[in-house]
Amino acid sequence: LLEIKNVVKNYDGKTPVLEGVSLELNRGEVIVLIGPSGCGKSTLLRCINGLEAIQGGEICLEGKAIDYNKKDLTGLRQKIGMVFQSYELFPHMTILDNIILAPTKVAGVNKERAKKEAMELLNKVGLAHKAKAYPRELSGGQKQRVAIVRALAMHPEILLFDEVTAALDPEMVREVLDVMLDLAKQGSTMIIVTHEMQFAEAVADRVYFLDKGNIVETGRPKSFFSAPKTERARQFLNIFE
Ligand code: ATP
Ligand code: MG
Repeated sequence: LLEIKNVVKNYDGKTPVLEGVSLELNRGEVIVLIGPSGCGKSTLLRCINGLEAIQGGEICLEGKAIDYNKKDLTGLRQKIGMVFQSYELFPHMTILDNIILAPTKVAGVNKERAKKEAMELLNKVGLAHKAKAYPRELSGGQKQRVAIVRALAMHPEILLFDEVTAALDPEMVREVLDVMLDLAKQGSTMIIVTHEMQFAEAVADRVYFLDKGNIVETGRPKSFFSAPKTERARQFLNIFE
């Protein structure tokens, strides 16, 4: 479904932040991307959904290389949904309006249908009763579940999650991780950046360890977490022991 080949990315025209990253994601697969701060995890996700252009290599979605020169990457972003650490909900809109905005304005779904589906999705994450509330009236965990629902409302082929629990109080982390585990069980295709190692091991089909812009190690979660092959991954995992 998604093929990342030798991707090189820099922000300043010289210092590469990604130094030739390759990764493959099949339909229904969950990849967890881990690595130290500044290694390029967010950058890679942002390149995948076209928020950043790449300077080398290519990223192919359904066999077709993404053309970063194209002005309108709306089509790409419809196929690849992204959820951020900081929710990015519109503060002046109700939860329901936040969710139906893209389906009605971008995907051309009629408003009643979009609302009906939004309510079904909200129900699944236990937040139907908050449909008419505003983001400021929700807890962090609730806001993040809404942000996930908003991404799901566009029926993306791939979901990208960038440290979506990093800003949450510990007691709210679980409710968000559970939503992601459910999505994985239902066969969603996802790339997840997280520092929650137990969750990573439970949810991943495959783990990629990124360090200084390079994939240093990749493997099945069980073997990666119990017996990492590289010294660098061992050091990194030690921090979480
Ligand atoms: P963290 O775990 O802290 O979120 P990360 O792995 O997501 O880290 P990135 O945010 O991808 O790391 O950053 C990788 C490198 O690129 C860092 O050195 C960072 O300073 C740099 N960088 C990120 N965004 C920009 C930007 N918009 N302009 C210039 N440099 C950037
Ligand atoms: Mg990041």
